Amino acid sequence: MPSSTGDFCYVPTCDLWNCQRPAAYKIAAIWTDGVLTELKPYGLACPDHVGELFREVRLRHERCKLAPGESLGPLRIYLLCPGRRDSQLEIATDVERQLGINSSAE
Ligand SMILES: [Zn+2]
Repeated sequence: MPSSTGDFCYVPTCDLWNCQRPAAYKIAAIWTDGVLTELKPYGLACPDHVGELFREVRLRHERCKLAPGESLGPLRIYLLCPGRRDSQLEIATDVERQLGINSSAE
């Protein structure tokens, strides 16, 4: 894969147990305690497994225990882009639409 910067970028692999393919998406939710805001990662998936992994981590996201003052946003699918900071990742809206998730949100 050509790199415009010349830096080698590690490409993470899909989180599903028997899958060695490069991950294309990061499933994450925005967490905040009112002061700090960060992207709380739930999993990485290749295009074939993004729907499956989303269903798997949704339960974990729903059961997440929050301390007073903390809040957790909805689970979203982000386009994984090696070398980019979490805050620069874009939401994969076409994938979310295909999977029929967050269709009522916005
Ligand atoms: Zn996979």
